[in-house]
Amino acid sequence: MTQVVSPFDQLRSAIAGSVVTPEDPGYDDARRVWNADIDRRPAAVAYCETTEDVATAVTAARRASLEISVRSGAHSTSGASVGDGGLVIDLSRMNDVEVDPERRRAVVGGGALLRDVDAATQAHGLAVPAGEIGHTGVAGLTLGGGMGWLTRRHGLTIDNLLSARVVLADGRVLRAAEDENPDLFWALTGGGGNFGIVTSFEFALHEVGPTVHVGMLFYGVEDGPAALRTARAAIRDLPADVTFQVVALHAPPAPFVPEEHRFRLVIALAVVGFGDESSFGAVVDRCRSGVAPLFEMVGPMPYTALQQMFDETFAWGVHCYEKATYVAELTHDVAETFLAGLDGMDSPLSVVHFYVLSGAYSEVAEEATAFSGGRSPRLAVFLVGAAADAAGLASQRAWSRAMFDALAPHSLGAGAYVNGMGADDAHRIRDSYGTKYDRLARIKAVYDPENVFHRNGNILPAR
Ligand SMILES: Cc1cc2nc3c(=O)[nH]c(=O)nc-3n(C[C@H](O)[C@H](O)[C@H](O)COP(=O)(O)OP(=O)(O)OC[C@H]3O[C@@H](n4cnc5c(N)ncnc54)[C@H](O)[C@@H]3O)c2cc1C
Repeated sequence: MTQVVSPFDQLRSAIAGSVVTPEDPGYDDARRVWNADIDRRPAAVAYCETTEDVATAVTAARRASLEISVRSGAHSTSGASVGDGGLVIDLSRMNDVEVDPERRRAVVGGGALLRDVDAATQAHGLAVPAGEIGHTGVAGLTLGGGMGWLTRRHGLTIDNLLSARVVLADGRVLRAAEDENPDLFWALTGGGGNFGIVTSFEFALHEVGPTVHVGMLFYGVEDGPAALRTARAAIRDLPADVTFQVVALHAPPAPFVPEEHRFRLVIALAVVGFGDESSFGAVVDRCRSGVAPLFEMVGPMPYTALQQMFDETFAWGVHCYEKATYVAELTHDVAETFLAGLDGMDSPLSVVHFYVLSGAYSEVAEEATAFSGGRSPRLAVFLVGAAADAAGLASQRAWSRAMFDALAPHSLGAGAYVNGMGADDAHRIRDSYGTKYDRLARIKAVYDPENVFHRNGNILPAR
C-alpha cells in the first residue's frame, strides 16, 4: 500500500526551518499577526531560515495550488500577510543585520524588524531611515516606501536601498540593483510585495545621533486652531536637520503627562532635531509662541529610544483599521476638517498622524522610484482607528472612514501611501501609483505573470 505524504511533510523535510499546521502545538501563535482583528486559518506556516528555504516553499505552494502570503514583521493592518487555507511564508527567523561601518552599508535579512536594524547600525553611530515603531518589519515597510523621523533628512527607506536578493514566483533567485535587473530593482522601490520575496536588503547608512533632540508639545483640542496655525508656519520654514509631525491622540498615562491630562484627547506637535540644538530649539520655541502647550516633554534622547518610544502604545494585539491620504499643507480648511473630525475619535487607542514629507524626500525625482506618492512637499495622513476589541473597532472604523471622506476634497488626489491602505482600499491602488502603474504592470508581467504574489497592494500583470 502506498502511503500518501502531505505536501507539508515534504516541505518540512526539505527546508532548514520548520512548518506549523493546524495539528501542531503553536498553530494559534503561528497564524497571529499584529492586528488582532485579523483571525485567519492558513493551511500551514513555513518558517524559513535561508533563501533556499523560501524558494522551496514557493515551489511547494505552487505545486499544491496553495495561495501564498508573505510575512516578515506581520504589521500589515489589512492582514495581507496571512490568508485562509494557504501557505504563509514567514521570514521572521531571517533577521541578521551585518553592518560595514567603513563603506556605510548594511545587509539586512528579509525578516528583520526595525529595532534589529537600529540596534546594529547605532552601535556604529549609523542608521537606515525607516519607520517609527521598533516592531515593524523592514521588508513590508521598505517595499512600500518607508517613512519616519529621518525622511526629511535622508529620504524614504527606498531612497537608501542599494540592492535586494529576491526569490521569484518560479523559484529562481535574482539580485536586483541599479546595474543588475534594474527594472525589477525599480519595481521594488515602492511597488510592494508584488514581484517576489526579498530575502535580504542592502542599504546605505547615515551618521545619526547617537543622541537626538526630541520635543513633544501637547495642546488641548480647544486650542487646536491656534496650535495648527503655528504648526503650518513651522512646517513651511523647517531647517533641513529638523523634522516635524502632528498627531491627535489620547494622552497616555506616562510619567511626563500630568495626572489631570492623562487619557485626555490632545494635539501633539512633535519636533525632532538631528543637528545642533539651536535649530531644533528655534522650532520648539516657535511652537510655544502661539498658544501655550498644556504640557511638554523636551530634551535629548538616544536615537534608539526615540525609535522605540511608541512601541508599547502600538503593541501587538489591538484591533485596527486605517485609511491614508496626502494633503499639500495644513491649510485652514484641512485643520478645521481634522479638528471637527476628532469628535468621533473616542477610543483611547485611535490616532491621527500627519508625517511631514519634504526636504530630502522632495529631492528625489518623481520617476526615480516606484513610490506611491508624488515628491512635492506634502503631509502623509494616517487615520488609525484602533480598539481593544472587535466591538470597539466598529465605531472607530466608521470614524476613520468619515474623517477620510471629509478630508477627500482637500486631498492630493484619490491615491495614498500603499502601506497605509485599509482592507477595503484595493480600488485605490491604481490611483496611488498614477502614471507609474502601467510600468509596474509590465514588470509584473515579466517576473510574476500568473500573479502568484497577490496578497498585497496588487498590481495586475499587463497582458
Ligand atoms: C504599528 C505600526 C506602525 C507603523 N509605522 C510605520 C512607519 O512609521 N512608517 C511607515 O512607512 N510605515 C509604517 N507602518 C506601515 C508598515 O510599513 C506596513 O504595515 C508594512 O507592510 C509592514 O511590514 P511588515 O513586514 O511588518 O508586514 P507584513 O504584514 O509581514 O507584510 C506586509 C506585506 O508586505 C509584503 N512583504 C512582507 N515581507 C516581504 C518580503 N520579505 N518580500 C516581499 N514582500 C514582503 C507582502 O506583500 C506582505 O503582505 C506601520 C504599521 C504599523 C502596524
